[in-house]
Amino acid sequence: MGEAVTSLTKVSKRELLEKILEIPGDQKPLNCMQCGKCTSGCTIMVLLENYPHRVVDKVRLGLIEELLRSDVIWACTQCLKCKEACPQRVSPVEVFLALRNLSINEGASLPEAYMKMLSSTLETGFIQEQVEVIGSDGETYTREKLGLPLIKGPKKLEKYQLAVMTAFEKTSR
Ligand code: SF4
Ligand code: SF4
Repeated sequence: MGEAVTSLTKVSKRELLEKILEIPGDQKPLNCMQCGKCTSGCTIMVLLENYPHRVVDKVRLGLIEELLRSDVIWACTQCLKCKEACPQRVSPVEVFLALRNLSINEGASLPEAYMKMLSSTLETGFIQEQVEVIGSDGETYTREKLGLPLIKGPKKLEKYQLAVMTAFEKTSR
């Protein structure tokens, strides 16, 4: 009984790893030698409960199921620093992207923040409203105050929305 459960788990782990490897991209988690260079340069390392080299390690070992349920796979900013730093041509950023794709394919929902970005993109063409920023002098700045041109949304909003919806439909088939 114990053996059957163990071998089932192994098959499932291998299948999940194969699914990650099949997703188009440069993931190559099996090349990883756990040097940690990807993590040392990661933009959001302090925010991650699971560092990039640990995520790659879990993936190469097939410990993917727990990652599919974790918020950590949605925290990566896709700055690509990890890919540039890797001496083994592994692409942790693409490992994160593959995990996100697999998670959605397996029925998970997009995090709320992503849903907000998607609906804002559809409604206005922007992922969020244009906001004021506070400078190092403590002053609040708008684009206008900085002499920057205002950013305009899509000229033909309805046509743009139709194109976005068509793209969503095609990718969700
Ligand atoms: S830099 Fe590359 S080889 Fe080193 S731990 Fe990260 S993914 Fe693995
Ligand atoms: S792409 Fe993601 S995992 Fe890689 S360094 Fe940037 S934030 Fe970190």
